[in-house]
Amino acid sequence: MQLFDYMGKYGYEQLVMCSDPASGLKAVIAIHDTTLGPACGGTRIWPYATEDEALEDALRLGRAMTYKSATAGLSMGGGKGVIIADPNTQKTEALLRAYGRFVDTLGGRYLTTTDVGSTGRDLEFVSQETEHVVGLPLSLGGSGDTSVMTGLGVYMGIKACARETWGSDSLRGKTVAMQGFGKVAYNTAQHLLEEDAQLFVTDVYEGALEKARGLGVEVVSTEEIYDVPCDIFSPCALGGVLNSHTIPRLTCSIVAGGANNQLLTEADGEELHRRGILYAPDYVVNAGGIINVSAEVGMTYNPELAREKTERIYEIMERVIHTSKREEIPTFMAADRLAEDRLASVRGVRTMYRTG
Ligand code: NAD
Repeated sequence: MQLFDYMGKYGYEQLVMCSDPASGLKAVIAIHDTTLGPACGGTRIWPYATEDEALEDALRLGRAMTYKSATAGLSMGGGKGVIIADPNTQKTEALLRAYGRFVDTLGGRYLTTTDVGSTGRDLEFVSQETEHVVGLPLSLGGSGDTSVMTGLGVYMGIKACARETWGSDSLRGKTVAMQGFGKVAYNTAQHLLEEDAQLFVTDVYEGALEKARGLGVEVVSTEEIYDVPCDIFSPCALGGVLNSHTIPRLTCSIVAGGANNQLLTEADGEELHRRGILYAPDYVVNAGGIINVSAEVGMTYNPELAREKTERIYEIMERVIHTSKREEIPTFMAADRLAEDRLASVRGVRTMYRTG
């Protein structure tokens, strides 16, 4: 499909190609939608094999940010930046500052933060050139590590699902299989363990497993995680893990985790629904990170506000479940509908003011 056709079909506003041969910067910034506020989304630094891959990733991730912020009730739109570079060998101050100058040309239409391959330290360089950066380290006046709130939000989402499934949101004695034990999973696990849930954990990285063992958690292999008898399956590593190979193996009643893009295809979301497994849409329950950075936009970072808004993920998840039941549609569709309804209503008001 032609680029303008694609942008028109999915409602993209702007696509920016950034080139700075002196520093080696090749980047794409995709602004999907600014109806609710400035587009906000992290900058991914990744050695994409082709330019098309980078472009596709920026577009897909930017649109997902619109839905995430809209459902979370934030006054922010969706966008994403990607830099084509190996984060281990090609990140330089010159490259990051060149990128910062491009972000600055957008005049605040796009606010950037960290993502895969970029760190708070990288953001410091970007912020030398532009003020349109959020999620800087706490020591620099930013909101710091996002995974603390993301973990809290995932936990809130799990509790809302538990209430729907078992009539109580207590997780005492419930078994949770966590795929990946990185930053988000660790923070989610803290809450689950406080409630005396029983955890099974897997990871490909020995350091992560050691951390899990340190918490007294049972470790299983990366393949076993799909088969381990559990009440809740919590994907906290990669995307695409809910697919036609894995879904038939799941024994859980609930799927709720922090990973982005968990469903390989929409058909997989429908299959979970058909099997009576309650799926917590990923962008609904993993919104704690974006909620955290939103609590520094236009104000001094307010951690209480961030926490309070993240705890609301419980009610948002309840609304998703309610819509799914009322409309007889899978939860992933219900979440999309809530986001699209909010965007449409705000667009309607804006149009009314412009024409009226
Ligand atoms: P992380 O890198 O700290 O943790 C990911 C963990 O997954 C690592 O320990 C890694 O070894 C493990 N892993 C990778 N491949 C695996 C596999 N095949 N099987 C088992 N484990 C595997 O990252 P994170 O910040 O915890 O993010 C986890 C997920 O949550 C990602 O999908 C990320 O996009 C998403 N997410 C993160 C945040 C945030 O605030 N950090 C916010 C929203 C969404």
